[in-house]
Amino acid sequence: MQTATNITELRSMIKALRQTASTVGFVPTMGALHEGHLSLVRQSRAECPATLVSIFVNPTQFGPDEDLAAYPRTIEEDLRLLDELGVDLVYLPSEAEMYPPGFSTYIQPPAVADGLEGEHRPGHFRGVATVVLKLFQVTGADVAYFGQKDYQQSLVIRHMVRDLNLPVDIRVCPIVRDTDGLALSSRNVYLSDEQRTIALSLYHTLSAARELVLEGCRDGQVVMEQMRKSLMDAGVTRIEYAVVADAESLEIQDNLVAPPAVLLIAAYVGSTRLIDNLLLED
Ligand code: AMP
Repeated sequence: MQTATNITELRSMIKALRQTASTVGFVPTMGALHEGHLSLVRQSRAECPATLVSIFVNPTQFGPDEDLAAYPRTIEEDLRLLDELGVDLVYLPSEAEMYPPGFSTYIQPPAVADGLEGEHRPGHFRGVATVVLKLFQVTGADVAYFGQKDYQQSLVIRHMVRDLNLPVDIRVCPIVRDTDGLALSSRNVYLSDEQRTIALSLYHTLSAARELVLEGCRDGQVVMEQMRKSLMDAGVTRIEYAVVADAESLEIQDNLVAPPAVLLIAAYVGSTRLIDNLLLED
């Protein structure tokens, strides 16, 4: 496995890979890798003759009061895991390379970025869209893999790719959960044992809400009230949103008449912000 820390190095390594590989699969990450990330890598390995992974904790997608400084960094272990999976190339850009002095060009994210995460984390998707576009530019990847875990992010990327005619295929892979249902997240390391139990209520709440819909409830308001109650009963300290939304536009659904829809939650357990979601297919 090769590693590149600057764009010149990266481009020449990709050029060499392309001598034999017809398509390059790309998995952008912020590191602190877990099975969720690794599932994307495995998918790329299964579909593409060459796989490239980036690890970069992108400062522009963190708000001023967020956990940029504390974000877990486990680079040695990350590289070991990626090597074991047979990744061809890992790109580890420095902050100075991604955002050199004078950097001032940002992507205005698509409309689907406005609500939910966009509302609670102003500027987040501007940072995400900007760094992802830059990574697409420097890697020239053919296929890029994202997790459904960050559902709204996957829509933002898909809409950006469509709107800007970017020559990259986007694949969105299912959420990987622990055996008890907790969605894997690099931020789960912040949780105490007691908080982890409370955190499980996100998945339980989503599952119960899906049951409610399957039983025939079509009143989105009732479903959303039930979700809030379930989270609060479990001890969740702060709910940012717990909604039923259209799976493509993310418009909140007061009446569940036109599936597919998606259930989405963002909530704090202690000082840890967690997100999770569940698709309601036809
Ligand atoms: P991050 O390092 O948090 O930026 O995540 C990198 C990629 O991994 C994103 O596309 C995430 O959606 C994806 N990802 C994170 N957690 C999971 C998970 N539990 N299951 C599937 N994909 C995930």
